[in-house]
Amino acid sequence: MTDDPKARIVELCRQFYSMGWVSGTGGGVAIRQAGRVFMAPSGVQKERLRESDLFELDEDGNVTNSPSADRSLSQCAPLFFNAFRLRGAGAVLHNHSIHAVLATLVYETEFRVTHLEMMKGIRGTGYPDELVIPIIENTAHECDLADTMAEAMKSYPDSDAVLVRRHGVYVWGKDWVEAKTQAECYDYLFEAAVRMLQLGIDPTQKPTGTPCKHTG
Ligand code: ZN
Repeated sequence: MTDDPKARIVELCRQFYSMGWVSGTGGGVAIRQAGRVFMAPSGVQKERLRESDLFELDEDGNVTNSPSADRSLSQCAPLFFNAFRLRGAGAVLHNHSIHAVLATLVYETEFRVTHLEMMKGIRGTGYPDELVIPIIENTAHECDLADTMAEAMKSYPDSDAVLVRRHGVYVWGKDWVEAKTQAECYDYLFEAAVRMLQLGIDPTQKPTGTPCKHTG
């Protein structure tokens, strides 16, 4: 059974709104299927999105079907296309999760964690591995992130995410299922790392024994 990408985007935006990932019209989702790309517009409440609000583009990024004239294409479009072109992604998500934002404040140029079970939800990553995600600097306009995001993706071919300082994260996958589940695992790991640092535990270090500080 083929998936209806428009219905899926509407459903995913509602789910992500309830998770605090796309509040205040921020964030977005794009799905590529059978040579066509479907994308939510900018400046629209993501939890109220309808299928008729979505843009349709060809694989070169040309708009082939626009919703009503008061809708504008997402500024994220060139960033979503980075994942389609450079990684052959089938879906890309962008969110402003507070966990992603906080993670970019406690790491400098790379997010790094190791020995956390949820790492297993990330493509090609096991529990004892080190998960590394590049962090790029934010810009005043979202479209201006496209080049630095592309450079980061080329420098970190094993990463399916790019963090943007004080802004959020872009995550992709071969299809919407992989993009969504990886985004959930990444978000968990961002929160875990920030909380570990608050507890004085270094998330980049292999555990050497019990982390418990109290005795008794
Ligand atoms: Zn954004």
